[in-house]
Amino acid sequence: MKKALQFIFTFIASITLMAQPKTAPKLVVSIVVDQMRADYLTRFSDLYQGGFKTLLENGEIFWNAHYTHSPTYTAPGHASIYTGTDPRFHGIIANDWYVAENGKTTYCLEDENTSPVGTKSKYAKRSPKNILSTTWTDELEWASNKKSKVFAFSLKDRGAICAAGHYGDAAFWLDKSGFVSSNYYMSSLPKWLQNFNKTNNIKSYMSGEWDYLINKKNYPKLLSTEFERIPRGARKADFPYNLSLLYKADTTEIEAFKSTPKGNQILLDVALKVLDMEKLGKHNNRFPDVLALSFSATDYIGHSTGIRSHETIDMYLRLDRQLDTLFHYLNENVGEDNFIVVLTADHGAADNPSQAKIDGMPTDWMAPADLESEFRELIITAGIPSKFILNFSNDQVYLQENDSLKNMEKIVRDALLKHPKIAEAWTKEEIRNSPDPFAKLRRNGSNKSSGQVFYALYPGSIAYYKTGTTHGSGYTYDTHVPVIFYGKIFGSSQNHIERINIKDIAPTLSKILGIAQPSACNGNILPLPIN
Ligand SMILES: [Zn+2]
Repeated sequence: MKKALQFIFTFIASITLMAQPKTAPKLVVSIVVDQMRADYLTRFSDLYQGGFKTLLENGEIFWNAHYTHSPTYTAPGHASIYTGTDPRFHGIIANDWYVAENGKTTYCLEDENTSPVGTKSKYAKRSPKNILSTTWTDELEWASNKKSKVFAFSLKDRGAICAAGHYGDAAFWLDKSGFVSSNYYMSSLPKWLQNFNKTNNIKSYMSGEWDYLINKKNYPKLLSTEFERIPRGARKADFPYNLSLLYKADTTEIEAFKSTPKGNQILLDVALKVLDMEKLGKHNNRFPDVLALSFSATDYIGHSTGIRSHETIDMYLRLDRQLDTLFHYLNENVGEDNFIVVLTADHGAADNPSQAKIDGMPTDWMAPADLESEFRELIITAGIPSKFILNFSNDQVYLQENDSLKNMEKIVRDALLKHPKIAEAWTKEEIRNSPDPFAKLRRNGSNKSSGQVFYALYPGSIAYYKTGTTHGSGYTYDTHVPVIFYGKIFGSSQNHIERINIKDIAPTLSKILGIAQPSACNGNILPLPIN
């Protein structure tokens, strides 16, 4: 009886919570903040007074949202957000992966059959051909007969292409010529974007100083900046930074820029431009338009200065103000009843282990090259000839196909387990069958292009530069990210504490928009109230 009542209650609740909205949104703004840990919502919340404050006060916040795959990198993260499934099915198992057939490493979105648009750079030969399932943006374009306009922008190609999918109107990413694309999407840049690139060149952004946004005393006291990377053109890893000196010292003309708040500013500027020029959210269609934005400067600064640096905090305070500008524009020009925002992140990040260790935390740092040679030595000592060890990448070992491969996988696993920094190792067969949640993360994050043996360092340990930090593990600090839905159609704001998965975002949007779920979607529809 109790069960039956519970069922009826859940059934009624699900009807009321996910009823079709009276008015469908005319615009979906899908925001990914690269490397945004879930605790960034609360850790700096006293200092937020713009977009993050709006989201915290008025959004539907899922406080316990996690990735269900590992490795946790930018491309697999974005692909999971938009496909509603894991790398195991969408195919983007890492940013780069080793290809045993030719002994080379391939980039997840490289496509030699495309040509660059708006640039001469070979790095713009990109397409979504390796994304093996549809995205919710594909399904929207399909359902609307391409009437929906889907535009995706990021500093990184993977932040844009995974969002625009196979059928979106355009993905644009930044190179030193400005926002560019590939002929997969178009034969030439829209005129308005060509003009934008002329007036908004990187050099013009890199002037003046990057200093504390608000009084320094508001920022938590830092013990040292010893484990922050000093950018070329600066004398120390501390404010103020002279932006033109950083620009002059940067031979690539773009890398320094991407690690400053100006990297997010150019994305905001182009977002306001595309909203205006393409009239996003102003079409009289049954299906909405989409603006997908991936803010990457947060990831670059996290990599170089870590998760507790003043630079990282300042980057988020400025993003808070930048999002405020975006939300004001949307309210005034699209109308508060007509748009929804969904904000999440592609992965989190670890603490800098050397700094955390001083603070008494159980962490460890290793130089990647040292770790690899120690692993190699252990494997050879266990009796595996060196010629069979092909590659170490993405916390995996690739072995040469041979008659005794199955047995060899176990020997390599046991050899790795002898290493003091290794917490766990699995063969490919073990990750397929093990109920261990960490093994499942590996399974979800791999496919037949992955290596044969998988390993995990202890929590908090990273193999990286001594300064800054990285991500990629299956531990909480890398899997736990914010998920917030915001818009008038959701009515009052709510906090949701149940554990949800990032792959739930896509089927939830499919429900709100009244379209099919992406082809390999295996997430759940989130319990959002709809006005
Ligand atoms: Zn990163």
